[in-house]
Amino acid sequence: MDQERNTPELEGAFSTRTDIIYDIGLNLFCAQFRDPEAVLATAGEAGIKCILTGSDMDEDLQIDAFVRTHDTYGTAGIHPHNADGASDADFETLRRILTENARIVAVGECGLDFDRNYSTRDNQIACLTRHIELSEETGKPMFLHERKASDTLVSLFRDHPEVCRRAVVHCFTGTRAELLRYLEMGFMISITGWICDDRRAEALRDAVSVLPPDRVMIETDAPYLTPRNVPGLDRVNVPWNLPYVLNTLAGYMGMDKEKLAQYTKVNTERFFGIPVRKYNKIQMNSDR
Ligand SMILES: [Zn+2]
Repeated sequence: MDQERNTPELEGAFSTRTDIIYDIGLNLFCAQFRDPEAVLATAGEAGIKCILTGSDMDEDLQIDAFVRTHDTYGTAGIHPHNADGASDADFETLRRILTENARIVAVGECGLDFDRNYSTRDNQIACLTRHIELSEETGKPMFLHERKASDTLVSLFRDHPEVCRRAVVHCFTGTRAELLRYLEMGFMISITGWICDDRRAEALRDAVSVLPPDRVMIETDAPYLTPRNVPGLDRVNVPWNLPYVLNTLAGYMGMDKEKLAQYTKVNTERFFGIPVRKYNKIQMNSDR
């Protein structure tokens, strides 16, 4: 890709690199991806940089090791589905990963899921509370999951206004009222291919019409949530489907997609504290 391409009218206000976008939620170490290196390489060819989502201890440790030897970033946390099994030792391990590894850029995936309730609500709340403490201790931002639990999430975070300003609600699928409340508290919002689903995106499409471009990031949540408005895509979602999310979102935000792409890039780098570095595929595997 052309390293020198830029958009003069936005110089100064934005990074001049326009040919990469960030997928802030990729579940790389799952059964659907048999060759994680190949997935990241193909994403890189398409101009997609990925932040790897850690949602249980096995995955967190894998990502902790992987990002040390690859040009990518990750998170470390315990998903609310796994809250029942979270132990003191797990949180000690998370603390070590978060404090020792600069490429682990956020606390999470963590949060509340009162839709499926795979863990008890009490355990989910206790587990999220410990993640908030980890964010306060390490200063790292939070990568939050919330499903049918907006009121409880809001009440938990009311006592932590400074953390709200460095937390992102990933895969936001809620209503305009929920969105406005999150924005008012300081949260960033991340949008997935849910926006591409004609069957269930009505509320979300209405909500993003009031989402300011400086508060939004995008993700695939791959291998889940394949964009449904694109005929012929494989059932297993991949990071290089991210442009479909971007383009659909731009339409419902009423924005030019190139401009939205630049906002999401700058927002991502600011939010996760990712240094703006020369993107060079040759550095893959040698960038320690
Ligand atoms: Zn999630």
